Amino acid sequence: MSHPTKEQLQAAAVEALAKVPAGRAPTPKERMQIPSQEMPAQDPQVRRHNMDEVALGFSEAQAKAEAMRCLQCKNQPCVAGCPVKIDIPGFVKAIAEGDFAAAAGIIKRNSLLPAVCGRVCPQETQCQEPCTVGKALKDVNKSVGIGRLERFVADWEREQGRIQTPAVKPPTGRKVAVVGSGPASLTCAADVRREGHEVTVFEAFHKFGGVMLYGIPEFRLPKAIVNVEVDTLRKMGVTLVPNFVIGRTRTLTDLMAKDGFDAVFVGTGAGLPKFMNIEGENLVGVFSANEYLTRSNLMRAFEKGKAQTPIYDSKKVAVFGGGNVAMDSVRTALRLGAQEVHLIYRRTEAEMPARIEEVAHAKEEGVTIHILTNPKRILGDEQGRVKAIECLRYQLGEPDKSGRPRPVEIPGSEFLMDIDTVVCAIGNDSNPLIKQTTPGLETTKWGNIITNDDGQTNIPGVYAGGDIVLGAATVILAMGQGRRAADSINRMLAEKTAAKPA
Ligand code: FAD
Ligand code: SF4
Ligand code: SF4
Repeated sequence: MSHPTKEQLQAAAVEALAKVPAGRAPTPKERMQIPSQEMPAQDPQVRRHNMDEVALGFSEAQAKAEAMRCLQCKNQPCVAGCPVKIDIPGFVKAIAEGDFAAAAGIIKRNSLLPAVCGRVCPQETQCQEPCTVGKALKDVNKSVGIGRLERFVADWEREQGRIQTPAVKPPTGRKVAVVGSGPASLTCAADVRREGHEVTVFEAFHKFGGVMLYGIPEFRLPKAIVNVEVDTLRKMGVTLVPNFVIGRTRTLTDLMAKDGFDAVFVGTGAGLPKFMNIEGENLVGVFSANEYLTRSNLMRAFEKGKAQTPIYDSKKVAVFGGGNVAMDSVRTALRLGAQEVHLIYRRTEAEMPARIEEVAHAKEEGVTIHILTNPKRILGDEQGRVKAIECLRYQLGEPDKSGRPRPVEIPGSEFLMDIDTVVCAIGNDSNPLIKQTTPGLETTKWGNIITNDDGQTNIPGVYAGGDIVLGAATVILAMGQGRRAADSINRMLAEKTAAKPA
């Protein structure tokens, strides 16, 4: 399938804008006639061999044309679909009027990371799902492209060098520790620092950004964008400490009892990979998606010859799973040079938790998807390296607890596939380290930290948010949780200071 080029899409947008009557706002009917703007993208056959971003971003003309499709609905159903309640009609209207700086300002009131969320939010199930335009056209893909517009504005602001460092109030003498540097932690750190409190972020890895840096691949979220956000924190005066594992280098309890921190926010994510528990998972050539993606993204294994930790040289890769992490893994495997990449999923495409767009991208790039198939065991050669997988065929049965049809194996349907690398992408649990090293900290039976509605744990002064509370979720939900906890920390510190100045 051939894709229109960036230039063709730009020309189409200019043509669409020329049809909009000058001197007055378009009527709803005229707005509905403006075609939905397609995102320019790298050609699949080219991009499968490079790590550059796949989506190329709207031009100004495309952004304006897309923004003019918005009906400025009074009841704002789109806002209800956004976990951080961005004033969507407000910023979209500003784009339609060509005032991109105003649009950026409106988004920033509610979101610290618009360049990230505009790229990776599952918009089709959040803000764009209830959009009136999509509903009227009976196609969620034809909703106003809110995420794409958000990305456009954030990129415009960055490229113009207009990103402003948020103002920081005078020092309060209070100290807050933030554990981890994913979206929950970065948001919490910024919001607490704004109030003038001293903030130190402790990160286990040597770089900051959490999954945005080591999980989501460069071709979906360029790392330069995450680094700009981290730099903003530095400019605000936040201290960022790498290679520091809370629970090993220092315990959470020590931070409060010995190091003088008035509060701690825990945003350690869900980084403990799950495995299938099948025969052969200990063979050489079996990776968790976490390790596989971290080696590529953080250790830059794709820079062959330069990478300090080169990755396994794979020819035939099988990835188990059907979520976004599985899609990132198959597409990364292609870019690392695999000749064949197979996705093994036990239900059908309709039940895949991955975003439809990601599945489509993977297929376009040449990934083979095996639905209603599940691995039974992994077979090794005499050196203990993966040489094949044995799979079973499945069929769909009655709905299970999740409401999705239960996959039921077909006895006797075993078959073999020649494979030299297996990537297990079936989900993550929370890392147990903080729980194990913080006496009395309450967690669920799955190890997620329990908080109240303010993000407070059962230990006074200790707050938590993001995947460590929610289980594996999304960037925007993690951000929302970081913000909520920051509000509580700021309130608590204000009350503490009023009672007894620092
Ligand atoms: P994380 O981003 O997980 O960050 C936690 C940080 O804490 C890490 O840097 C970790 O090193 C650090 N840490 C852990 N333990 C310690 C410790 N003891 N001491 C110090 N530091 C510690 N979401 C989307 O919205 N859209 C997507 O497209 C998307 N794609 C994804 C693709 C992949 C491959 C993965 C794995 C996830 C994806 N997600 C996506 C989910 C999203 O990235 C997470 O929900 C989000 O990053 C969670 O943020 P967080 O701040 O809770 O934690
Ligand atoms: Fe939509 Fe995400 Fe932006 Fe909210 S933050 S408006 S859900 S893209
Ligand atoms: Fe615009 Fe869609 Fe929101 Fe209505 S629901 S205000 S059309 S983005």
